[in-house]
Amino acid sequence: MTSIDERIRDTGLRVTRQRVLVYDALAALGGHRTADELVSALDAAGTALPRATVYNVLDDLSTVGLVMQADRGPGAAVYEAANGWHHHFVCRVCGAVEDVPCVIGSKPCIDTDVPGAAIDEAQIIFRGVCASCRAAG
Ligand SMILES: [Zn+2]
Ligand SMILES: [Zn+2]
Repeated sequence: MTSIDERIRDTGLRVTRQRVLVYDALAALGGHRTADELVSALDAAGTALPRATVYNVLDDLSTVGLVMQADRGPGAAVYEAANGWHHHFVCRVCGAVEDVPCVIGSKPCIDTDVPGAAIDEAQIIFRGVCASCRAAG
């Protein structure tokens, strides 16, 4: 498996300690995490980073596709270590985020015509009530 240093370098970004720390923390936590969860995890690991730095790094890594970002609702973006392009289902009741496979598997999987624009990504969020919330009535 390619190290994260190499994967960052391959995107053309500079490899910095912050970028490696944030990516490793996100990959170690697994799943879909808020920036706050990352700040706490980095803190707990003795490698605390300022919240603004964590946001900047998440932004940089999202732009180059090493991190995926999903919108869970107002002010509640979640991030994950990218593992193939996919979409998300978000439960309206409990906020759970589940991966939804993309039939194409790479972006942009949907194309549309925005005059004069070059589209490179289409992220779909499916919303509804998840299986456990439905079971709970
Ligand atoms: Zn739910
Ligand atoms: Zn996901």
